[in-house]
Parts: sequence; C-alpha cells; structure tokens
Amino acid sequence: MDDREIKAKLLPEFKRDYEKYYPSKSLKELGFSRGLCDKCGRGFWSVSERDHCDEPACSGGYRFIGERLTRKSFEYREAWDTYVNVFSKWGYVPLERYPVVCRWYDELYFVSAGINDFQPYVVSGEVPPPADCVLEPQFCLRFNDLDNVGITGRHYSGFIMVGQHTFRTREKPDVYFKEEGIKQMHEFLTGKDGLGIQAEEIFYHEDVWAGGGNFGPCIEFFSRGLELGNQVYMQYRHTP
Ligand SMILES: [Zn+2]
Repeated sequence: MDDREIKAKLLPEFKRDYEKYYPSKSLKELGFSRGLCDKCGRGFWSVSERDHCDEPACSGGYRFIGERLTRKSFEYREAWDTYVNVFSKWGYVPLERYPVVCRWYDELYFVSAGINDFQPYVVSGEVPPPADCVLEPQFCLRFNDLDNVGITGRHYSGFIMVGQHTFRTREKPDVYFKEEGIKQMHEFLTGKDGLGIQAEEIFYHEDVWAGGGNFGPCIEFFSRGLELGNQVYMQYRHTP
C-alpha cells in the first residue's frame, strides 16, 4: 500500500476507535468536545459546539486575513523565541536547522519537512536523537508546489517548518507522547506566554499521517480556516 492508500484505509478505523488513537483524554480536560463535521465527515474537537470542522472548504474559507488572533503581532524571530521559551519548561532542546540538501537520507535530495532531519536512522532507532525532546526551525523546499505559487496564495517554494519532536522508545517509555504533546501545544497556542489565541478559535482535527515508511494518527490544528500545524504520532512502521 502507498501512503495515500494507508490514509484512506486507516481513517475510518481511527475514527471508529478515536479514544484509542487520538489524545481525547487531554482534549476533554482542556474543555474540548468532539463532533463530526456535517460537510466532510471528519472528527474534530472544539470548545463551543459547531456542526462543521475548520477546514476552509467546510468553514467558509480563510477568515484570518486582516484579523489579529494572537495576543500581539510577532516578528519571525520573536515567534521562534516565544516558542522555545514556552517549550523549554518541559525540557525541549532547541536545535539549529539542518541543511536543505538532504545528504543523510537516500530517499530525498532536499528537505521538504522537519521530520526529514531525523529520517531514516533516528526514526528507526538506529541512531540516538540529539535529545529526547527537540525543537527545530527547519527550512523546507517544496518544488512539487511550484505550479501553484502565486496562484492559490497558500503555496510556497519554501518555508520554515517549526518542529516539536519527542522520541519515545521502548527503553524510554516516559518521554512525552500524544496526551502530553497536545496539552503542551495548546498552552503554546493559547497561553499568555505563548501566542495567546482564544481557545474558542482553535479547532483540532483528527487525521492520518503516512510518510517515509511510518504512519499513525495525527491531530491538525486550525484557526479561522488556517492550518496552524499538525501533530503527528508516528507509532507504526511498514513491514515487508
Ligand atoms: Zn469538514
């Protein structure tokens, strides 16, 4: 099965047993409740009751332009420093970005996502990670999006993907995973030391992620139709 087939096959299964696959305990503790989008059918979590998810196609397009949802305007450097400051209290170590020429990974010429920095040998467990929990500002190139640059307003040839990575292994079962990870991200998004977005403006979507031989559930987060990020739980590996 390729990645697309895996996603199509697993999404209904994860949806059926959502409490097992998604950090539902933490989302409930944060005051979120689950709904099913009446337009696309996906499972999503919100503070106030709503009948549709926050994908732009379901929620009425982008509704953030000209609005300020964060507690203040952030310059790039300031946004990164704020991110590091919030996550450092949980022991996350900020890393320098990796090169965009992906010479450590035979499958790729250029880095197109933050996770590429740790593929394949850190993800597989053959090489130890730089720390149990790391943050990285990884410049990513997206040549496959070139035809859409300047047309859609949402495609770029390059961007910085800000990473939150934890490496939980059999030997280190206490490293943060889903339940802790989503609470930490929520605190960054909504906290007074973080971005300070109102919790009512945040929507968590259930989805499936697959890539580089691994796959698992993931939680995407949106505000006013804009995808802010995707927290991926790479708990499965393709077997031959
Ligand atoms: Zn939807």
